[in-house]
Amino acid sequence: MTETAILSTRNLNLYYGERHALKEITIDIEPKRVTALIGPSGCGKSSLLRCFNRMNDLVENARTEGEILFKGEEITSPVADVVAIRKRIGMVFQKPNPFPKSIYENVAYGPRVHGIRDAEALDAIVEKSLRDAALWEEVKDRLHSSALGLSGGQQQRLCIARTLAVEPEVILMDEPCSALDPIATAKIEALIEDLKTHYTVVIVTHSMQQAARASDFTGFMYLGELVEFGETTQIFEAPKNRLTENYVTGRFG
Ligand code: ADP
Ligand code: MG
Repeated sequence: MTETAILSTRNLNLYYGERHALKEITIDIEPKRVTALIGPSGCGKSSLLRCFNRMNDLVENARTEGEILFKGEEITSPVADVVAIRKRIGMVFQKPNPFPKSIYENVAYGPRVHGIRDAEALDAIVEKSLRDAALWEEVKDRLHSSALGLSGGQQQRLCIARTLAVEPEVILMDEPCSALDPIATAKIEALIEDLKTHYTVVIVTHSMQQAARASDFTGFMYLGELVEFGETTQIFEAPKNRLTENYVTGRFG
């Protein structure tokens, strides 16, 4: 394990019933960096991302073997506090999924669940989270309107604000731009660049251009294995593995 890693796996295997979806994955995620997971559809990117905050717990028949460590602590342990883990390791999904409530309530929801009741404190958290998600200027005059009235790109930034509101350390993003147009995508990519000042970001993307633009480290996955992992420039410019090379040069996808 690298000494600095915030999240790591060691010989992680994931099974969905009989299906062996992740095979002997050993990876270190560096803090305050962006790590991209790339690879063809079905190779296990989302499955690996879900292991990082125990979202696979919610999948019937899923079971893991091996270690998943957050700051050196085993998160698969039966005594680990799953609620606390998901607060510290938040997730943003492919399709923006705001609650059918106001913009304000979407962001205030998590802090309320975690016991914050004071109105001024909530106002401050909502503003800060929306600012950090680069959405505040666009919504500050309509905080009490429905989140469903926002554009897709705004809804996705709202979902990021909702994640930030509980002060996570890691943000997992599963193809966060796949439902967005190029302009909204560019805004999210710029936001990711800003987020890494304070947060660790792990992003799954099927866009190699996005991985090359937005990440510091890249892992290439294929058929449930982590084929190659390294600095993004190395993976794209000097891949060591033939499969990685074929993938990043667009020979298969
Ligand atoms: P990716 O995100 O790279 O497209 P996934 O992690 O979604 O890949 O899927 C990896 C493999 O696990 C695929 O073969 C997929 O069919 C299978 N899989 C994913 N989710 C489930 C599930 N809930 N139950 C059974 N098999 C699943
Ligand atoms: Mg996926």
